[in-house]
Amino acid sequence: MKANLLEQFRQIDDLLGVAETIVIAAHENPDPDAVSSVLSLHNFFKSQGKKSIPYLPDAPSKSLSYLPGFFEIRNEIGQIDPDVLICLDYGDFRRLRIPEGAFSCPVITIDHHVESDQRGEVKIVEPGYSSTAEIIYQWFKYKNIAISKELASCLLTGIISDSGGFRHVSTSHQTLTAVSELLLRGVSLNKIIRRVLASDKSLSVSRAWGEVLSRIKLDPHTQLAYSWLTPDDFLRLGVRFVDFEGIVNIISSGSPSSIGLFLIEYEKGRIKGSLRSEPNGGKNVVQIARALGGGGHPYAAGFQADGSLDEVLKKVLKLV
Ligand code: 5GP
Ligand code: MN
Repeated sequence: MKANLLEQFRQIDDLLGVAETIVIAAHENPDPDAVSSVLSLHNFFKSQGKKSIPYLPDAPSKSLSYLPGFFEIRNEIGQIDPDVLICLDYGDFRRLRIPEGAFSCPVITIDHHVESDQRGEVKIVEPGYSSTAEIIYQWFKYKNIAISKELASCLLTGIISDSGGFRHVSTSHQTLTAVSELLLRGVSLNKIIRRVLASDKSLSVSRAWGEVLSRIKLDPHTQLAYSWLTPDDFLRLGVRFVDFEGIVNIISSGSPSSIGLFLIEYEKGRIKGSLRSEPNGGKNVVQIARALGGGGHPYAAGFQADGSLDEVLKKVLKLV
């Protein structure tokens, strides 16, 4: 482990030593890494007799309800005065939807997004890791904690989903060592893969994926493959924003340069964009996302934008 990370783990211990009430937060429209990172720490703190409050600004996908503590997640922070705030997997502080100055307590960040607007007295920002869950695993190891089956199930969910099932470049020897040790706790790899890598879907979600995939277009100049969802689609198909986790990977695989874009207009004029590429394609999508006020990783990034689908698409094409 890097000396720097070790020192930061020590600083976390110092801050947590005296803390009794801890809020653990992660990003809006939470993906499985965000949810499972929050729940792994939540379950751990509970086992230590601390008051732990898992907070996500939006409800996560029900497909993750097998994670222990899932039904304890709050989507409103409410009136609390924690001793420590832990912010996970978010990149940009705004994505936590915690009002500026809402808490006066110390802040700890654990994140694997590239440096953007992370905060904290202790700020772990390690883009070399597959997932935030993998960094949390390293913290548990450093603390010599006997990882329970419940914690293993959370951590594996985060690692497997954010590494795209071990396909992304951030998957390292260290990642697979972590996975192998976690599997010793008796968790079913097959079950987690089916849940988080999008093979298990309800009929309405499968049909919605079919529609999105059938409209994929390829821009002849940039080779960007793209598709979209409108507010009408959501109503008509009976699906939710979080039901489309992973679809952009399929969209990008249709591009000869492996560059893909998925635009979701979740409210009239409010758009969330997801970008993907591969090392061989030569496009660093986090640069594009950043130019639009977003962030992420070199090969997986996202942003929010105001405007029509056409307008946002044009902006992205220009940047590509
Ligand atoms: P996704 O496209 O799956 O939502 O996100 C891909 C990556 O980019 C994830 O690591 C995600 O956290 C990050 N990301 C997505 N949207 C945003 C955004 O609006 N701002 C920032 N800073 N990062 C984002
Ligand atoms: Mn993540």
